[in-house]
Amino acid sequence: MDIIDALTALNRQGINLLAALADGRLNRARLVSFGYSGSTAGEWVALSETYYGRTRHRRQQRRAVEAARSGGLSVEAIAAVEKHVRKLLDGDEWALRVELCALTGTVDEIDKAAAARVRELNRAVPDAEAKSFGRRSLKGGKNTDACGLRHISVGLPERTMADILTRLRETAAKLRRSDKKLTYEQAMADAFVAHLLGDASGTPSVITPLVVIGLPDWAKLLRHQADDTLFGLTDGTTMTGAELIRARMAEHHLVGIWDPFTGPVNLYRAERLANLKQRLLASADTLLCPVRDCTTSADECQMHHLDAWVAGGETSLDRMTVACRVHNARNDDNPGAPPRHGRLDRDESGRIVFRPPDGSGPVTNNHPVRRLSAREVVRQQY
Ligand SMILES: [Zn+2]
Repeated sequence: MDIIDALTALNRQGINLLAALADGRLNRARLVSFGYSGSTAGEWVALSETYYGRTRHRRQQRRAVEAARSGGLSVEAIAAVEKHVRKLLDGDEWALRVELCALTGTVDEIDKAAAARVRELNRAVPDAEAKSFGRRSLKGGKNTDACGLRHISVGLPERTMADILTRLRETAAKLRRSDKKLTYEQAMADAFVAHLLGDASGTPSVITPLVVIGLPDWAKLLRHQADDTLFGLTDGTTMTGAELIRARMAEHHLVGIWDPFTGPVNLYRAERLANLKQRLLASADTLLCPVRDCTTSADECQMHHLDAWVAGGETSLDRMTVACRVHNARNDDNPGAPPRHGRLDRDESGRIVFRPPDGSGPVTNNHPVRRLSAREVVRQQY
């Protein structure tokens, strides 16, 4: 037999190989002697037990075997089916096996289609979240590879994992700023160590509280002056921002919490990049990318000019916000051009909103976290 014919025959008859394992013509040791790894041989034995072993669902089992045979699935394709059947959170596993064994195409195509189907079924499971939470895991870490490294794999609910990765990315970004030679993956690994072991070489991000106070009605903003702001008081006197905050702090018995911002607030066209002070205030203003349903935290966002810099936009706080990389890039910067993706703007109340391209009303990001933004905190106080 030609080697290609042999390979074709082998891979069109995965289910017959499993049958041979089940009836004893083939076993784990023989597979290993043919050149398969112990883990592959073990996986095939387990598959043969599923498809030919004892079960209460004999009729369904026969139908699955028939489907795999008539579709000419390879053992690898059957293994892909099985991998996804095991991820079914609730429901009839055997009905799913019958359905997935009828899939055709390459192993990768079957893998993808099976994953999509199981995800769809799992979405309909009422307590899917609790069930998938039950499957959380941290595995590995016991074997050292040839490079002297050990590996772990962690499975967590998507929200938890997203939160963890956000923190790791923040720290990794800091590490890469101080060491340009670090790759993204190295920096993420260092960040992971820093967060767990508190290693000084990768200090975890320090939380700096920002105390938000609303402008009292007896003070009115007069002008920005050097790196401070001058307010006019109803008694005819003036007060700097620093003095105003000291006065308000005393009133609220919070003396001592003072965030020493440095640098000017308004840099009209002097410098394109928003300075740190603006960045902090713009971040506190919204906490998240302001586009609806976007969950990118302000720390991961870019500074966004509500009026495009090229169109003469000023680097002043009231005309700036933060926006994630995607929404910053998609923003229609030229208000004169036909709308394509929509644009960010401030509404009459000063809140950052998204104006859709179809001209319908402004939409806000209603994520609950935004209720804690400086703007909303001040709104609730006054
Ligand atoms: Zn966004």
